[in-house]
Amino acid sequence: MQASTCTACRLCEGRTQVVFGMGDPNADLMFVGEGPGAEEDRQGLPFVGRSGQLLDRLLLEEMGRTRDSCYIGNTTKCRPPGNRDPQPDEVAACWHWLDDQLELIKPTVVITLGNFATKRLLDTDVGITKLRGQVYPFRGGSLVPTFHPAAALRGGGAVLAQMRSDFVRAKLILDGAGAA
Ligand code: URA
Repeated sequence: MQASTCTACRLCEGRTQVVFGMGDPNADLMFVGEGPGAEEDRQGLPFVGRSGQLLDRLLLEEMGRTRDSCYIGNTTKCRPPGNRDPQPDEVAACWHWLDDQLELIKPTVVITLGNFATKRLLDTDVGITKLRGQVYPFRGGSLVPTFHPAAALRGGGAVLAQMRSDFVRAKLILDGAGAA
């Protein structure tokens, strides 16, 4: 795959491998995270570390489904060194891959996880705390912004409760009861 040899930004220097995405290319639900962490960089798969375990749990408990029925991608496909934030030029250099994924998969609902994915997809500087709790029209479907699972792992019960309600919001749309 072309992406596996991408050298469009400096993140190629520190990566073990490109983490392109995983799941069902015909999925009605797509998650977009920030960028691979250490475990993702090692395995070549998105959300396989602690954040991913929480994502799997929320998906099962609030939506009754598993990751195989979704598509999971990231804003940057290579690990930012030391898990630092992706830089604007790195997000920009990687955008066309994510844009292509969104166009090919055409999910009914996109759940953005955290600030980087939400700001990029909604093309805004407004932060996730303000944006979450609502549904946004997105490419003929709906976008449901929520916190990054790492924020819930750090922030505890209040963040987790809001994530749960965002997952329920997404499920209602997919069940046909709450379209944007
Ligand atoms: N955090 C992300 O944003 N993406 C991953 O794939 C893993 C952790």
